[in-house]
Amino acid sequence: VSRANRNTPKRSKASESRYALFEFEREFPDDATCLEYLVRQLYPDGIYCPSCKKVTKHYRDKSRPSYSCEFCGHHEHPMRGTIFQDSATSLRLWFYAIYLMTSTRCGISAKQIERELGVTYKTAWRMFNRIRSLMAEDVGKLSGNVEVDETYVGGRRRYKNRKEAALNWSLHKQVVAGHAERGGKLRAIHLPGGTAEALVPLVHEYILPASTVYTDELPAYASLNKEGYEHKRIHHTAKVYVKGDVHTNTIDGFWALLKHGLRGVYHGVSAKWLQAYLNEYSFRYNNKGQDLFSLALSNVRKASSQSPS
Ligand SMILES: [Zn+2]
Repeated sequence: VSRANRNTPKRSKASESRYALFEFEREFPDDATCLEYLVRQLYPDGIYCPSCKKVTKHYRDKSRPSYSCEFCGHHEHPMRGTIFQDSATSLRLWFYAIYLMTSTRCGISAKQIERELGVTYKTAWRMFNRIRSLMAEDVGKLSGNVEVDETYVGGRRRYKNRKEAALNWSLHKQVVAGHAERGGKLRAIHLPGGTAEALVPLVHEYILPASTVYTDELPAYASLNKEGYEHKRIHHTAKVYVKGDVHTNTIDGFWALLKHGLRGVYHGVSAKWLQAYLNEYSFRYNNKGQDLFSLALSNVRKASSQSPS
């Protein structure tokens, strides 16, 4: 039996991790390896030169994070138009921040990124939001058996007393609609200033007709049956939570995870950022068991691509 080599660790098969810290350090020891990775990601067919009007070999420039065409010297800047543009922070620190944000189950705060990276809070917050944009995925229309539910998330407001809190509660609680396809993906939508009336149009927008929709007994959902959906309701007020397949356990589980995270990691969230948090949590939930780090990196895009599509 050979002894484990402590200098070359291996990820345990039993670990929930899909990408461990030592793997990150091995794969991305410096800025150059991060930039090469980004180039492979952004230019899978090679770099197109607009002067030569074809894909040509581009060489890495020595002192800048850019590449030059071997024929005409055209400069290509891989980071331009991406979330990494105009940042003084090294690309490796960016990658490390992405690693941190995708390797925790309940998320990580901008404050924690500030501490881990040794950057200012302003920089950490900016990175945090840009990285989160990589986690906004369009899951398309849901179908089959879909649980539909709504929940209320509190704003970051403090009240002088209970009476004031009670009066303002509904004003500052934010409505979040959730659609969860059983055995499939999930979508969470913030309804700014939303009311229950807004919930049914969302079903039309995001769930294919002829699907079976499971809801609670909120009156707003009453019209779904007439609108082409098979509609099954759970009678929560009668303390019936599960009756055969009529339940909303899938989406309830997500709400629990979301609220746990908002309380523990983010200490409340303002309405302005709520959708971004929902996207982040949905991304983790929808891609459970996958290498979220590579997945987030694969979502890096150029805002305005110069190469022909
Ligand atoms: Zn060229």
